[in-house]
Amino acid sequence: MSWQQRIEEALNERRAADAFRSRSPVTQGVGRWRVANGQRWLNFSGNDYLGLSQHPAIVSAWQQGAERYGTGSGGSGHVTGYSEAHQQFEQRLAEWLGYPRALLFISGFAANQAVIAALLRKEDRIVADRLSHASLLEAASLSPAQLRRFAHNDSAQLATLLAKPVDGLQLAVTEGIFSMDGDSAPLAEIASVTQTAGGWLMVDDAHGIGVSGREGRGSCDAQGIKPDLLVVTFGKAFGLSGAAVLCSDEVADYLLQFARHLIYSTSMPPAQAVALNEALAVIRSDDGEARRQRLHEHISRFRRGAEQLDLQLTNSGSAIQPVIVGENSRALALAEKLRDAGCWLTAIRPPTVPAGTARLRVTLTADHRTEDIDRLLEAMHGVRQ
Ligand SMILES: *Cc1c(COP(=O)(O)O)cnc(C)c1O
Repeated sequence: MSWQQRIEEALNERRAADAFRSRSPVTQGVGRWRVANGQRWLNFSGNDYLGLSQHPAIVSAWQQGAERYGTGSGGSGHVTGYSEAHQQFEQRLAEWLGYPRALLFISGFAANQAVIAALLRKEDRIVADRLSHASLLEAASLSPAQLRRFAHNDSAQLATLLAKPVDGLQLAVTEGIFSMDGDSAPLAEIASVTQTAGGWLMVDDAHGIGVSGREGRGSCDAQGIKPDLLVVTFGKAFGLSGAAVLCSDEVADYLLQFARHLIYSTSMPPAQAVALNEALAVIRSDDGEARRQRLHEHISRFRRGAEQLDLQLTNSGSAIQPVIVGENSRALALAEKLRDAGCWLTAIRPPTVPAGTARLRVTLTADHRTEDIDRLLEAMHGVRQ
């Protein structure tokens, strides 16, 4: 088989399964509206949960950062790419979340890959929630350690797997809020069984940071735990991009020696760190609190309305409110009809979610207005007829 044939075959398989993915460019920002080709839709597919990607103070902080530092960081953090802006943001983040240290990464994907690759050895075992993000599961399966997956949110099964004999060390892995279902992990139980087994716990709180907990400190704060490794990302509620690992002094020093994604990759632009500092200030402020409040009102309104329409929701209290529809073709057709009705959302299909559970992934943001939620519900009612 030639390269050409192999690629064509893979593409054809995807097309035949209604699983072919493509992208379409937007003309303007990604807040309440999606604007493209001179048309606009209400946007129910972004992760900008607090609407901060359009926040004037944060946009202006990025501009000022670029004036002071220029556009790029010029190298890896180990060479020229670590600025006072990076340092200040790491310190403020660590202080806010109650950890000795925070280390910045250019993305959540890179942070998860780096931590798992740097920490685990052949004799070790990773025990991860079955629905963990691709960046975690992929890192775990690439790692030389043994990978075991526990049923979604099943801390009893986690305990059973951790109790099996192992030569090395154990790392339990889960998320604060799951990307495709929007539900929360039972973090207190998970932390307790992991501690009993003498392992470490890593929590990826990409969807909880900024949104849940006191002042938006995230899922771990909301559930009163402090994992050994906490990963937070800035592409969602922070409205920017990048990520950080919160950990002890020793783990931070270790990652600075051994995390290849830090050492062999250009660090984020200093101007972005300036903007992240401003985003953190907004998240902690009354403005941030009002945004969280608004978001939670939208979530309740959507769930009440969807229940009245008898839509199949998940057990989610978060900004991610998937409507399960089953078949890929049906999810695609419904998403297209909703677009015709002015509401933009995406059909999420296997392999991102289990087969037979294709869904319309609705995400809500503080930027939406009450009437937007009602309009989405009306459109959903309409397309079902
Ligand atoms: C979005 C997401 C990531 C990836 O973060 P990026 O910064 O977008 O690379 C990792 N984990 C989870 C749970 C996510 O939802």
